[in-house]
Amino acid sequence: MGRVLVIGAGGVSTVAVKKIAMNADVFTDIMVASRTKSKCDKIADDIKNVKVQTAQVDADNVDELVALFNAFKPDLVINLALPYQDLSIMDACLAYGVSYLDTANYEPLDEAKYEYSWQWAYKDRFEKAGLTAILGCGFDPGVTGVYTAYAAKHHFDEIQYLDIVDCNAGDHHKAFATNFNPEINIREITQRGKYFEDGQWKDTDPLSVHKPLNYPNIGPKESYLMYHEELESLTKNFPTIKRARFWMTFGQEYLTHLRVIQNIGMARIDPILYNGQEIVPIQFLKAVLPNPGDLGENYTGETSIGCRIRGLKDGKEITYYVYNNCSHHAAYLETGAQGVSYTTGVPAMIGAKLFMKSIWKKPGVWNVEEFDPDPFMKELNEQGLPWHELFNVDLEL
Ligand code: NDP
Repeated sequence: MGRVLVIGAGGVSTVAVKKIAMNADVFTDIMVASRTKSKCDKIADDIKNVKVQTAQVDADNVDELVALFNAFKPDLVINLALPYQDLSIMDACLAYGVSYLDTANYEPLDEAKYEYSWQWAYKDRFEKAGLTAILGCGFDPGVTGVYTAYAAKHHFDEIQYLDIVDCNAGDHHKAFATNFNPEINIREITQRGKYFEDGQWKDTDPLSVHKPLNYPNIGPKESYLMYHEELESLTKNFPTIKRARFWMTFGQEYLTHLRVIQNIGMARIDPILYNGQEIVPIQFLKAVLPNPGDLGENYTGETSIGCRIRGLKDGKEITYYVYNNCSHHAAYLETGAQGVSYTTGVPAMIGAKLFMKSIWKKPGVWNVEEFDPDPFMKELNEQGLPWHELFNVDLEL
């Protein structure tokens, strides 16, 4: 049905391209392009059922991207590079005339700041060009937005309280490693916390608010309030929400390493001079940390991510908890990557599949919760991320 070009060749791309190849009736031609071509070749070599083309591209360079689009003629570009490249890839999509999907919102390189404003500003241009841009189509953001839209469509007249809970109860047996790009991950976690309440954003010191929450099949885990980008779009798209928060679990070892990394200046994102050469400490750190895409082999345990929602149905207050648990080992056996890459790459493929089938296709720039959640929820069950619902349980929040 369509030609897909995936940009980026990290952990998330590894899973997404594998899953795309497993849906070859929809994705007729596949290309993966990234800064380092050998990583694209490795992904392509592991896929036996269809041929995957590869190419080298600098996704910061709009002209290079447009030349690549002219050569491959994609119907959809999936951006699985880094958030820094979102705008250059969107510019190239407009210049060539192709639709766009990503899993993380734009972030300027010199400031750890997540905001949809930069990408929402492309809405008119995509609309006029008749092109679709689907933003934030991983797990969180991504599935969490679809869960919320599904809850609003089927279970609530009014969603009032939304808590997104993200638990990783896995063990990769390394002293310290991040589950996705270390630079993006550390920038996200060390920024100030923020949540939405009564029409206002409220700030907290980084990771200063925390409490134990019980996760299905896992048990209690200390969960930390932090800002996450889907809070911005969900509070806008569901204006009945009175409070929206995001919680993520961290182990003590991880937090201790993070504190040391910050205290010794290795989390800095500004360039410093080293031996006459400018380097950015956090980029140097990334180069010596384990590659998140390679953590899968010894990864045990599972992730559990979901939405805990309180609101009104037929005038009565109800609670609802929808979640997925994903085993790192099962993800590894299927795709060679760990659960966090898996839970991001599978939804990216599903969004792309629904676009190719013209189900999630409308000119403009959209967050996932602005599309019909039902076909996406069906695909989640079929593509390896089954979900479960609990009604009128204690949400603990
Ligand atoms: P990786 O660091 O493993 O992979 C990123 C890839 O992008 C690498 O192959 C890298 O190339 C490539 N890349 C970086 N810069 C450029 C450039 N200028 N031109 C071309 N290619 C480039 O990251 P992950 O796979 O872990 O994450 C991918 C994306 O998914 C990130 O944006 C991340 O924020 C997002 N994500 C979203 C989640 C969600 O639930 N929504 C959860 C987890 C991640 P090279 O190999 O040469 O370094």
